[in-house]
Amino acid sequence: MTAGPDASINIPNPGFEKTRTIYIAGAGIAGMTMALSLAMFGIRVVVLEQTPQIQTEGAGLQISPNARKILNELGLNEALEGLGFATREIDIYPFRRPTPLISLKMGDAMESVFGAPYMVIHRSDLSNILFSACQRHANIEFQFSVRSFDMQAHQKGLSLTVENRDGSVHNTRPYAFVGADGVHSMTRTKILAGPDAQYSNYIAWRALIPSSMLKDHFNLNNTSLMWGPGFHTIAYPHPKRHVVNIAMFTKEKLTKKPSPQTVLTPDVPKAGFACTRTKAIINAAEGGWKKWPLYAAQTSQWYKGPVGLIGDAAHAMLPYQAQGAAMAIEDVGVLAPLLAKTNDATKAFATYQSIRQSRVKRIVKTSASNGRIYHMEWPFSIFRDIVVSVQGPTAHLQRLAWIYGYETPKLQQTSP
Ligand SMILES: Cc1cc2nc3c(=O)[nH]c(=O)nc-3n(C[C@H](O)[C@H](O)[C@H](O)COP(=O)(O)OP(=O)(O)OC[C@H]3O[C@@H](n4cnc5c(N)ncnc54)[C@H](O)[C@@H]3O)c2cc1C
Repeated sequence: MTAGPDASINIPNPGFEKTRTIYIAGAGIAGMTMALSLAMFGIRVVVLEQTPQIQTEGAGLQISPNARKILNELGLNEALEGLGFATREIDIYPFRRPTPLISLKMGDAMESVFGAPYMVIHRSDLSNILFSACQRHANIEFQFSVRSFDMQAHQKGLSLTVENRDGSVHNTRPYAFVGADGVHSMTRTKILAGPDAQYSNYIAWRALIPSSMLKDHFNLNNTSLMWGPGFHTIAYPHPKRHVVNIAMFTKEKLTKKPSPQTVLTPDVPKAGFACTRTKAIINAAEGGWKKWPLYAAQTSQWYKGPVGLIGDAAHAMLPYQAQGAAMAIEDVGVLAPLLAKTNDATKAFATYQSIRQSRVKRIVKTSASNGRIYHMEWPFSIFRDIVVSVQGPTAHLQRLAWIYGYETPKLQQTSP
């Protein structure tokens, strides 16, 4: 649908050549999607992952049509349809309201306007789908338990040293290196000398609750978005697992750099307990909460020579527009063809950065602004609720077309 001003890019036709190898740091959503896409262009890929196996931490993910279309192009449609679920509507509940203020059309409406469904899926299901797809490609290799890596760019290309947790070291000369190593990316901080991630002063409290315990409080065909003074909650079902994914978001100033931990009860503002639905969620999940401090990372330098960043490594953001993973997938949709079809990795990264940065910036701003809107206190919340209900149940399909209708630019080859 909406494609942006630079929907097609002219690139010289390289008319090449021998197999190239690209190294990727991180086997998360960004890294595995990138590996799959590059492998489908015939490139050999080595994925370096610090953990001993694929990470499945986390609970739910919403995958919007802009990202889903790219995943479908990678041949994943059937697997995603099998494990994901397209919720029919988003029920919006302002604080303590027993019935939804409005139900935004999703399901069929999203699919008919944007050409792909708006899906929710358990994070480990998405990781497993990507990993299985990667394993079917002989030209993708995973190296787990990687301790660190270092590299130097020089006239002849790139020299990379990888050190594993068992102490073994290997040296190699890849064509390019893609840092998909997440919010605390070593590629960003060490190799590109970029900034550290910053704690955002927001906490996500995450839980998975049996659907049977919440069926009286929500429509379990829908996503529910509950706004409150200083906090908000999102709930959506994973029907095949018979659980509801819950994420509550609160503000919390912390002096030390916090890391995730398991807790008994989320630290919701006292007002939260005056809301029957919030109380029901807290009671149902007692003992099973993950306190997840949210970090953000912004850098204007997404590459240096043949080394570049994608996903959270380049632009970790607040999850209030549910677009972090979607932006990682879009990054792949732009960068993989550039790396595959041009014969200069540095230029490929430069073009990718110039295409992607303004869009990602706008998404980052929108996400932060949503946080302020969702957390509004009375009396401002009254005006917010009036505006939302006047807009009606389908206005978001137009208002957010710039996000969900995005098409990755098509590369047009020209003579060398
Ligand atoms: C509460 C919450 C809800 C969210 N909801 C949504 C949503 O609904 N929709 C959406 O689109 N986004 C959502 N997001 C954002 C989304 O989770 C992230 O944007 C996405 O997971 C980023 O993927 P990534 O592959 O870039 O990073 P990661 O998923 O963090 O993967 C990075 C990988 O790199 C590995 N790694 C790290 N360092 C190294 C190293 N030095 N060497 C080797 N490997 C390394 C890690 O182990 C990991 O496997 C949400 C985020 C949060 C916190």
